[in-house]
Amino acid sequence: MSRYGALRVLREGLTGNRGWQPVWREPQPKESYEVVIVGGGGHGLATAFYLAAEHGITDVAVLEKGALGQGNVGRNTTIIRSNYLLPANTAFYERSLKLWESLERTLDFNTMVSQRGVLNLYHSDAQRDAFARRGNAMRLAGIDAELLNRDEVRELVPLLDFKDARFPIEGGLLQRRGGTARHDAVAWGFARAADQRGVDLIQDCEVTGFDIDGDRVRAVRTTRGPIRARKVGIAVAGHTSQVAQLAGLDLPIESHVLQAFVTEAVKPLLHHVVTFGAAHFYISQSDKGGLVFGGDLDGWNSFAQRGNLPTMERVMSSAVAMLPCLGRLRVVRQWGGVMDMSFDGSPFICRTPIEGLYLNGGWCYGGFKATPGSGWCFAHTIAKDEPHPDNAAYTIERFREGRLIDESGHGPFPWAH
Ligand SMILES: Cc1cc2nc3c(=O)[nH]c(=O)nc-3n(C[C@H](O)[C@H](O)[C@H](O)COP(=O)(O)OP(=O)(O)OC[C@H]3O[C@@H](n4cnc5c(N)ncnc54)[C@H](O)[C@@H]3O)c2cc1C
Repeated sequence: MSRYGALRVLREGLTGNRGWQPVWREPQPKESYEVVIVGGGGHGLATAFYLAAEHGITDVAVLEKGALGQGNVGRNTTIIRSNYLLPANTAFYERSLKLWESLERTLDFNTMVSQRGVLNLYHSDAQRDAFARRGNAMRLAGIDAELLNRDEVRELVPLLDFKDARFPIEGGLLQRRGGTARHDAVAWGFARAADQRGVDLIQDCEVTGFDIDGDRVRAVRTTRGPIRARKVGIAVAGHTSQVAQLAGLDLPIESHVLQAFVTEAVKPLLHHVVTFGAAHFYISQSDKGGLVFGGDLDGWNSFAQRGNLPTMERVMSSAVAMLPCLGRLRVVRQWGGVMDMSFDGSPFICRTPIEGLYLNGGWCYGGFKATPGSGWCFAHTIAKDEPHPDNAAYTIERFREGRLIDESGHGPFPWAH
């Protein structure tokens, strides 16, 4: 029976909610583990879960410097999709979307996956052709995609500006299986399911160094003492370059701030995720009624989880250019997150030159949708000591070998944003 089934919720409600237990344990770190995962965000927690669930490896610790789920996994705009162009990306993101589709049953936790459709607007013939190409590539890979004309878009989202728009809408590329998921529930769901399988989730435990013997990692140094491990996986998102440097790895990653915004709650007015084609802007409406949206990076390197005013202004002007009715709403919340921007816009899920040390990072501003797929593939890579075909291209060496996965519009050239 589901732990949060209707009968249980009703019983607890009637008896003062005194029967709930903490959702995960608070264990003391052991002296050694088979696998240590650095970083208790979505990707680290998902990796620990799949190590236990798919590979039977339960002697695992997730070390988190703060509290679980306080990083980007709880700060994003919750969009999930698999509408990529390049073969190295399509299989990976489609695996992730398929895992999202059954995630609530897998975790026995309501992650509020909502396949409401992701609609990318196009505003010129050239943009239509590019979107048609992307849609065709998706369909050839067995992924759903529909190219809509202006009237079909108007039927789906009538409040878009179709009258005197500065960038008239010509149509859109729709992935109906895309949508949103409740971001912090994803962290809690993976954390609870990993804990239930015996994984130690250790909070307030910052990794400050690695003990490397020859070319093999032996232990991590932490603020709670050294912890030995046969294998160590790094999954620290915006802090990837810093943590990798502790192991002597210099990665092609820069950290940048990305902001998100939420308006006051209103009745349902937007039933899909919609992205603007004339500027970088994306929006959806949460189940509570707030409009959740974001735009571009702030434009310079930072580890601060807040944002600057010129970027806010640009995002707001995109919002009202696309959906003029938003001009009457108040923004009630805003925050920033630190993005690990790789230089081709694609991630790393791979071994490193150091034996027993594995890397997961470079998610740019698109890593939330990757969470289950990334955890699944990283767990496979750690357990088998080799990548799964779906993440085989996500190596560090691709930069040396000239095999970049340059998926335009997904983060390349962070300095240009
Ligand atoms: C505003 C915003 C909007 C976004 N919108 C979307 C979106 O709509 N769709 C999408 O797909 N993606 C989106 N993203 C990107 C997505 O959120 C990230 O790519 C993804 O969450 C990163 O992986 P994570 O969840 O593991 O990261 P995090 O949750 O950041 O996890 C990394 C963890 O590592 C910990 N850590 C760091 N250093 C150490 C250390 N030395 N020792 C121990 N622990 C450490 C951190 O405290 C953190 O908890 C957005 C991001 C932001 C900020």
